[in-house]
Amino acid sequence: SAKDAGRNGIQFYNKAMDARARTRLALEYEIRRGLENGEFEAFYQPRVDCLTGEIVGAEALARWRHPERGLLFPDSFIPVCEESGVIRELDRQILAQVASQLANWEAQGRLLQVSVNLSASQFGDPALPDVLQQILQASNCRAAAIELEITESLLLAHDQNTLDTLASLRTMGFAIAIDDFGTGYSNLAYLQNYPLNTLKIDRSFISGLPQSSAIPQLITSLCRILSLNMVAEGVETHAQLDWLRQQGCQQYQGYLCSRPVSLAHFNELLHYSP
Ligand code: C2E
Ligand code: MG
Ligand code: MG
Ligand code: MG
Repeated sequence: SAKDAGRNGIQFYNKAMDARARTRLALEYEIRRGLENGEFEAFYQPRVDCLTGEIVGAEALARWRHPERGLLFPDSFIPVCEESGVIRELDRQILAQVASQLANWEAQGRLLQVSVNLSASQFGDPALPDVLQQILQASNCRAAAIELEITESLLLAHDQNTLDTLASLRTMGFAIAIDDFGTGYSNLAYLQNYPLNTLKIDRSFISGLPQSSAIPQLITSLCRILSLNMVAEGVETHAQLDWLRQQGCQQYQGYLCSRPVSLAHFNELLHYSP
């Protein structure tokens, strides 16, 4: 009967929910174990000077060297990290790897700036500036060598604590970038109220270049007027790069130069960079 079918339907649904919850929990447990075992690793995607082609830095992107499943990408672990709060530990481990690597490069006379992604949830922690200070001290890395990438949504929340935290981070010397710029609600007023250095135009606007150029053009003007550094994300073709260069965009990332690569591979790219 319909009633039975309904009941079975509900039972089936509950079982499916249960299975999903168990999988998620198992994954969370595995991530915690992986963090304890140092299985998470910063990969580096070159940040390139649009005019000279020189590698001036990189973005650090988390990868998981899973003991059984091989190299895993963020889409398979970041959502669970965010939901469970484990993201704070992950971000800190990536930042610590980057800080010690920056100190190494500097010791070799190579001045680079590396950006790291900072989850919005970090800003709920009043100890964030202290935690970052400890990471810098442990590796003897300058704050100015690190750019912290945050998302537009964090700024749109208009939270006074967030503003205060960002101000402290800037005072400490960190550079601050807005990641995926243009994908949130663009209430441009906030750009003036926060201590920002860089806008990273989202890949979705770069992919249409040079044909669909209205929004990239708007963002380049905005950066010029507000004296913000501009980085184009997801540059894949020479035509896109040519357009960006002509518009005065300073830096880009994208497959045109390289995918995110392991540290060893990135050091090779650096070796051959102009
Ligand atoms: P994101 O910070 O916006 O990073 C850019 C993403 O675009 C990266 O994906 C990168 O591999 C990809 N990408 C770069 N150039 C190109 C291109 O030319 N074409 C295409 N199609 N894609 C390109 P990835 O590494 O899978 O990272 C995805 C997202 O995961 C990142 O987006 C970031 O939001 C998040 N994420 C990665 N690592 C961390 C981390 O350590 N902490 C936090 N909180 N988030 C992270
Ligand atoms: Mg990013
Ligand atoms: Mg991005
Ligand atoms: Mg993105």
